[in-house]
Order: sequence, then structure tokens, then C-alpha cells
Amino acid sequence: MGDVLTTFLSARKCLGSTQGLRILDSSCAYRSPPMGPPGQPNYLNAVVLLGADMETEILLQHLQDIEKQHGRIRTEEHWGPRTLDLDLIAYNDTVMQTKHLTLPHPHMHERMFVLQPLCDIRPNWRHPVLKQTARELLESLAATGVPHLEERRTW
Ligand code: ATP
Ligand code: CA
Ligand code: CA
Repeated sequence: MGDVLTTFLSARKCLGSTQGLRILDSSCAYRSPPMGPPGQPNYLNAVVLLGADMETEILLQHLQDIEKQHGRIRTEEHWGPRTLDLDLIAYNDTVMQTKHLTLPHPHMHERMFVLQPLCDIRPNWRHPVLKQTARELLESLAATGVPHLEERRTW
């Protein structure tokens, strides 16, 4: 919801100015149709590569703080419209599943809006469980008939 590109720029700035975090790379922003409840506006998605010197849970906490600073209100509705959603897609080769954090993100390989921007910046990144690269995961998903995202822009 809102002026999403402006939110993206502001969120990236917040990430880069968080102690222990550095922005190393950023994908284009891709427009995609909404998931979840109908009647929502399109979504915008991008992947940012961070250099991080902190525990995974602390990093997740920073992401959630930045969401909150950008007007994210947590409601009961899952996958409803929101101002900003910052997910941790992966953290090096970490494989973990706790109450608050699953790594790699459990749905990343099923989502064109994750794989396509990820391939912009790290096509050779390898999923530590599935053992496939981002490029291979993208090709597998495309082979199931999921269309590539057409509309993208720099930010
Ligand atoms: P999805 O996970 O399907 O993309 P979502 O991003 O809309 O859905 P949220 O409501 O933002 O879901 O997050 C729900 C909870 O997911 C968070 O409170 C967080 O504790 C948990 N979570 C587990 N793994 C991750 C992860 N890799 N990145 C971000 N949040 C995660
Ligand atoms: Ca999400
Ligand atoms: Ca989330």
C-alpha cells in the first residue's frame, strides 16, 4: 500500500544505516499480481543482498522494526495488503526452523517474485537444502507454467 518505491528507498537506507548491516547489492523492483485475498493492488518485490554481522534472530528483529517504522500494522489477515514486508530469504548456508524463523524462507523457491530478482544479483547462489542454484530454481518454476514477471524498474 502507498508509494511503494519511496518506501523501498527509505527501507534500504534504514537497512544500510543499521549497525552491523551493509548493502552489498540490490535487484530491480518487479511488479507482480497479488497473492492471498482478492481485490488487492499489485505488489512490488525486490531482493537486497546484505553483509550482516549479527545473529539471524536479531536481523529478523531489525527487519520487523523497519517494517513498523514504515507503517506496517500486523493484523490477523495473512497475505493481506501492507506497506512493507521484509523477509529473510536466506542467511549464508544456514538451515533452521524455529517458532520465529525458517531459513531459507520456506516459500522462496515457489515464488517468481523472489527468484527473478534474486537471479538479477546472485543467479549462482545455491539453496542449501534443495541444492539447486537460484537460476535452476527459476527454470524449474518456469517449467511448471508460472510466468516470468514482465514489468521491472530500477530504484
Ligand atoms: P510469507 O512468509 O508467506 O511470505 P508473510 O511475509 O506475509 O508471509 P508475515 O505475517 O510477514 O508473513 O510473517 C509471519 C511470521 O513469519 C513473522 O512474524 C516471522 O516470525 C516468521 N518468519 C519465519 N521465517 C521467516 C523468514 N525467513 N523471514 C521473515 N519472517 C519469517
Ligand atoms: Ca512475505
Ligand atoms: Ca514477512
